[in-house]
Amino acid sequence: MKFLTDAMLGKLTRFLRIFGFDTIYANDLINFFQLDPVPDEGLIDYAKRNGRIIITKDYALYKHYKENSIFLKGEGIYNYLKQLNKLFGLNFKFNLKRARCSICNSPLQRVEKKNSIKKLVLEETYNNYDEFYQCLNLQCKKLYWKGSHIEDIECRLSNTLDFD
Ligand SMILES: [Zn+2]
Repeated sequence: MKFLTDAMLGKLTRFLRIFGFDTIYANDLINFFQLDPVPDEGLIDYAKRNGRIIITKDYALYKHYKENSIFLKGEGIYNYLKQLNKLFGLNFKFNLKRARCSICNSPLQRVEKKNSIKKLVLEETYNNYDEFYQCLNLQCKKLYWKGSHIEDIECRLSNTLDFD
């Protein structure tokens, strides 16, 4: 299941990617379309051609592509995740092996030799974690590890959502 999120859903986009869902953000398509903001017709056309479900807070956009889009109600990231869980049964279990880069949506690869990234993270992080993953996009190469930030998110999710 692949998604296309509208310009209002930057935070949700990063969450979906980190939980392993292939998600293109409307604002990432500005260069592609040479238009800012990308018009609704452009988003719908892109979603159709690439088999993506549109997730939106924009009722007009939803109305023009009801057959394959989701209109999110209310506010707040945990509220949105709950709606996606109800609609699609999406499971928000964090697993670095299938996470995608929150910045660019590329897959991650495990760092084989930990000492190769020693200079790229804080000493404390380097000493406390053994498993690091890196974004495969050579222009990005962001590093990931299962830090306390992820544990916070997991904890809040399990408290907020009634699924396991
Ligand atoms: Zn990346």
